[in-house]
Amino acid sequence: MAKTIFEKHSPGRKGYTLPKNDVQKNITEIIPEKFQRKYELKFPEVSELDVMRHFLKLSHMNHCIEKGFYPLGSCTMKYNPKINETLVRNAKLADLHPFQNEETTQGALQILFELQKDLAEISGFANVTLQPVAGAHGEFTGLKTIKAYHEAKGNHHKKKIILPDSAHGTNPASVTLAGYENVEIKSNENGRVDVEDLKAHVDENTAGFMLTNPNTLGLFESDIEEIAQIIHDVDGLMYMDGANFNAIMGIVKPGEIGFDIMHFNLHKTFATPHGGGGPGSGPIGVRNDLVKFLPVPMISKNNDKYILDYSHQETSIGKIHSFFGNFLVNVRAFIYLKMIGSEGLNAISENAVINANYIMKKIADHYYIPHKDQYCMHEFVASGKWQKDKHGVRTLDIAKRLLDKGFHAPTVYFPLIVPEALMIEPTETESKETLDEFITAMIEIAKEAEENPRILHDAPVNTPVRRVDDTKAVRELNIKFDW
Ligand SMILES: *Cc1c(COP(=O)(O)O)cnc(C)c1O
Repeated sequence: MAKTIFEKHSPGRKGYTLPKNDVQKNITEIIPEKFQRKYELKFPEVSELDVMRHFLKLSHMNHCIEKGFYPLGSCTMKYNPKINETLVRNAKLADLHPFQNEETTQGALQILFELQKDLAEISGFANVTLQPVAGAHGEFTGLKTIKAYHEAKGNHHKKKIILPDSAHGTNPASVTLAGYENVEIKSNENGRVDVEDLKAHVDENTAGFMLTNPNTLGLFESDIEEIAQIIHDVDGLMYMDGANFNAIMGIVKPGEIGFDIMHFNLHKTFATPHGGGGPGSGPIGVRNDLVKFLPVPMISKNNDKYILDYSHQETSIGKIHSFFGNFLVNVRAFIYLKMIGSEGLNAISENAVINANYIMKKIADHYYIPHKDQYCMHEFVASGKWQKDKHGVRTLDIAKRLLDKGFHAPTVYFPLIVPEALMIEPTETESKETLDEFITAMIEIAKEAEENPRILHDAPVNTPVRRVDDTKAVRELNIKFDW
């Protein structure tokens, strides 16, 4: 392990230069006694160069999209164009204050207004709120909207939200948080919603149905019109988890195929770096009669002026985040959309799908892939089942070995309905050469499992940190350095 910055401490070394102190009074005369520190602070004393080297070295130990491939299924870890980063650091955007009055923020409001409009156009919904700051937050906002819809209609008996067993974990969590009961239904042998099982679970207590499309197996839910009919017949609402929008944008408008509400993951589909938990943005789009329930303010245009619009405050579910959500993430999505243009959106989805199918076909002889006889969308789910059954190598070992070969690991053990799942999503931004390198690594690992499973049990061996004990790390979390 590399030395910590504390271990590099050498008394008297300095990494800063301060201007001469021109305060006449002694600090103890200015700061009240009770706020004065009674002991010396212990800071590591290191030179500027040592600090630079230390943190640069640490940054090299991390994996990131600029360093290598990141096939993290369900997360859409695409390359995020650097122009976004340059532009959002412009003081005219970054230094705005949310309490500034509308007169002085017309440009920022125009960006938000146009983003609302563009997202509504792409998704086929009437309007969009930009307030939620994550996909899960969008789900919660959407479910609150469903609740407001039913309460306004006097549908007080509606208590249940139906979701398939392939759902992302945030879906049932959001359902519970919004005060609904989860009803889980089965997927059929084609990896899609089992319509018969759905029918068996729908009744007048059904408030809505949450579905990811394409679903978490990377398969397009083709029975969507029939499903929507079944749900709408009991006055339920159709919610689409749009985290997988990267597969269909520019091609399918969810608002036109039976969905009433959908969230976007701007940090996935619309290019914001989102490793390590943030920042994100999870706007939701809704059909016309649901707009009045959305959080306020919306951004509207009144004659030639952009305004913070509180006009439906009475019917709104209220605020779900301060101000207008994660402003600069929304700006990144805006820049991305304007640069890509509407034809570009098509190309993104097509290439994301082609890339996923390419990898799937190339590794299909080496890994069990439950639905390999069908085309996948932007991702597919393979499994380490053969390796486990024949060689005692688990999916976790395969994922760790990929780190040795310079790749980020795929999503593992999700979705839950595929044993030893390895969920692979290449995204559209990778070249054929990179995909080929990854395919070669996957095939090499399958060979290693046969010939020398020990290597896989020991992996990773080339990374700065070897295999960590995840459970112990959570149970005995210690992020303090005793110096
Ligand atoms: C990522 C994801 C979510 C949750 O989004 P967050 O922004 O991480 O909260 C929900 N559903 C699916 C299918 C996802 O992939």
